Amino acid sequence: MSPPPDDQGPDHIGRPASSGLIDGPIVRLEVPIAGRHETSGDPATERALLAAAIGSATEQIAALTELGDVETGAILEFQTVMLEDEALSEPAYSSIGRGSGAAAAWREALGGQIEDYQAADDEYFRARAADLIDLRDRVLRNLAGEGLSGHRPGAILIGDDLTPTRFLETDWSQGGGVALAHGNPSSHAAMLARSRGIPMVTGLGFGNLDGHERALLDGDSGHLILSPNANQLAGFSEKVRQADALRQQADAYLARPAVTPDGTPIAMMVNIADPDEVDGIDVNICDGVGLMRSEFLFHRCSHLPDEEQQYQAYRKVLQWAGDRPVTIRTVDAGGDKPIAGLTIEESNPFLGLRGIRLSLIHRDIFKAQLRALARAGMHGNLKIMLPMVSVPAELETAAQLLDECVAELTAQDTEAVRPPVGIMVEVPAVAIMPELFSAAAFLSIGSNDLTQYVMAASREGDAVAALHDPGQPAVLSLIKRVCQYGGKSGIHVSLCGEAGGDPAHIGALLEAGLRTLSVAPAAMARAKMAIADTDLEAGDG
Ligand code: PEP
Ligand code: MG
Repeated sequence: MSPPPDDQGPDHIGRPASSGLIDGPIVRLEVPIAGRHETSGDPATERALLAAAIGSATEQIAALTELGDVETGAILEFQTVMLEDEALSEPAYSSIGRGSGAAAAWREALGGQIEDYQAADDEYFRARAADLIDLRDRVLRNLAGEGLSGHRPGAILIGDDLTPTRFLETDWSQGGGVALAHGNPSSHAAMLARSRGIPMVTGLGFGNLDGHERALLDGDSGHLILSPNANQLAGFSEKVRQADALRQQADAYLARPAVTPDGTPIAMMVNIADPDEVDGIDVNICDGVGLMRSEFLFHRCSHLPDEEQQYQAYRKVLQWAGDRPVTIRTVDAGGDKPIAGLTIEESNPFLGLRGIRLSLIHRDIFKAQLRALARAGMHGNLKIMLPMVSVPAELETAAQLLDECVAELTAQDTEAVRPPVGIMVEVPAVAIMPELFSAAAFLSIGSNDLTQYVMAASREGDAVAALHDPGQPAVLSLIKRVCQYGGKSGIHVSLCGEAGGDPAHIGALLEAGLRTLSVAPAAMARAKMAIADTDLEAGDG
């Protein structure tokens, strides 16, 4: 390869974390703050100053929580819990007692914890190090009376790593982007960027940024071009034009029913997490809710939601959907979704107490959810779905518990229905022998987990991302087997994993026999466009 011409801006490649293209001025993420707090030399004063700085941090985080959505709530809850944990602040107070100033003591106390998180085997815990850095810097800023460094709306934030609260405090109303030398696509900041549609690339490994003022960032290919020249700018504008044209083309499909060129209708459902999400979705773009991940309700508050809170949340979604079916999945905690007070720490949580396994242990919590669902079922077309089922006994027990809940509610003169109960097909044991689950009212294939378990490739890790491929023949043959069983038995089969919204996989999924897909609302237009372009072989369906 010939070296680039001198005037060509350096082009770095990293790991795409959130899709989209942005051309903008760069703003350096602030260099770690010094926490310029002069020590008074008096331990009692330093202790009081630290306590006040921690108290202000708690208030600032609470104010951010008010602004955010359900994912934001979960992220900030981690920080609030950490701030309230005396184990975090105690070492700092002790070193103040030994003569340290508040800032030095806090920096040192947090330093050890941050290193522990950074060295964790588990990617989830490594990603939480950014939360702790965020907490460290927030309290130091409070001690020093410093505010955030300025941000230019529409700019590309560039630096080592990005904390979730820095993301939340940034004004994204005019777009912008994030380019990080390090960072991790599973971090909370990356999750926030994806949910807000802010392009982000991690692991760019750039060095000195001096002299650069403008950059081009491609969140799909992972490229960052610093100080672009005229050719690079022209190439990028062309990419932006193509992406806009593709989006407009896809948007034209949004309001139409999904149908293949031979006229085969495909039911298109949406996946949601937070009940408030439906406020931003036109119900006419979908045929119902194929998956409501109820565990996100459990992340929303610092305590588990009670029956009444759940009832209100489920009823809201059912009323929004009208006659359309709404499939609400019972709590799928565990794996990558730990919930304080519910899940346990395990060395391999994806193979541990997850989903229905956990619900059947915490029967009080499970019954509160089933009661809320049976009551909410009065307000629409509700189906209940069980996650991570591996053996028929789990379905039987859950169905019995639901019957008990409905009987109890009826005995108390509380209006309730007994919704049909179906299962996720995400454990290979179910996909291999679906006939054992003939008691299920419906089957919904969770291709995210099914792929992870069939291919023995984590759905999170970057290193085996190529193996976590729902297009692998082994995964597709299991999907086909489940569809064939559905055809023979009359049990409805759908798919609610990410593959259903991915144009690269839609053709193979329809070929495997699927006629109902449930996808993220943002993926709906492109999925419908891909369906309109999928020729099914004669005789399928
Ligand atoms: C799946 O596993 O495909 C699925 C839809 O469930 P989740 O992604 O919530 O595990
Ligand atoms: Mg799953």
